[in-house]
Amino acid sequence: MRLQLLGVRGSTAAPGPDFVRYGGHTSSIAITPDGGDRPTLVLDAGTGLRMLTPLLGGDPFDGSIVLSHLHWDHMQGLPFFVGGDRPGARVDLFVPAQDGRKGRDLLAQSFSPPAFPITPEQLQGDWRFEALDAGTREIEGFAVTTADAAHKGGRTFGIRVQDDHGSIAYLPDHAPDAGVSEELVELLHGVDLLVHDAQFLEPERAMADAYGHATVQDAIELGRRCEVGTVVLFHHSPARTDAALDDLATMTAQLGGTLPVVIAREGMVLDVPGTS
Ligand SMILES: [Zn+2]
Ligand SMILES: [Zn+2]
Repeated sequence: MRLQLLGVRGSTAAPGPDFVRYGGHTSSIAITPDGGDRPTLVLDAGTGLRMLTPLLGGDPFDGSIVLSHLHWDHMQGLPFFVGGDRPGARVDLFVPAQDGRKGRDLLAQSFSPPAFPITPEQLQGDWRFEALDAGTREIEGFAVTTADAAHKGGRTFGIRVQDDHGSIAYLPDHAPDAGVSEELVELLHGVDLLVHDAQFLEPERAMADAYGHATVQDAIELGRRCEVGTVVLFHHSPARTDAALDDLATMTAQLGGTLPVVIAREGMVLDVPGTS
């Protein structure tokens, strides 16, 4: 499979001259299956989702979007996704099941008047909204596994995507410090690529714990513990400038030791398993 990082920020978009190289869009990644010519599976729909439309060759989107959770930085791109909001599009949207509510209703809590001018069903094209439980199911030909991950404010999933050749795990918002369940360790174990929350640095530990996030060290330690192939540090703080992320790259080159560590950058393309 091929991963394209469409947005790598956490919390809120970060525009401006200090954020040009790593990008300012919030969390979204697109996955193209082996042999495919465009993405069919998307994880999270932050503002980065807007970057998917130009990758669709002028055609409407035909695929699925799985949300790790419903915080704004993971869903605000939905109504601005032109490739999905048009006649002929087919979008199956999955949100973590909670409180016995329908997927549509969970989404509509922040995606309907007075919070937003339109409701989910006013999107053009064929949209389906589903509340997803933890477990494994086939989505767009991939085996997609979800398990609960510690975070704050609503149910949050870690997501594993597997095909016949490789696997990735995606945990954009995760506080490993609050405990990692056996299910989650199993989900993470041995993946080729772990795309993980790296919003905070070790001196910001108190804030990471308060907001239910990871530090860079947490992400690397978890990667090592679960014997992943590469850790991709993701969901950068909106305050982390290009210069600060360059410094982080230097620091993590030492921290990672034998474990390869990559700083996520908007527009980055990652083939899984790698070609090197
Ligand atoms: Zn987030
Ligand atoms: Zn969150």
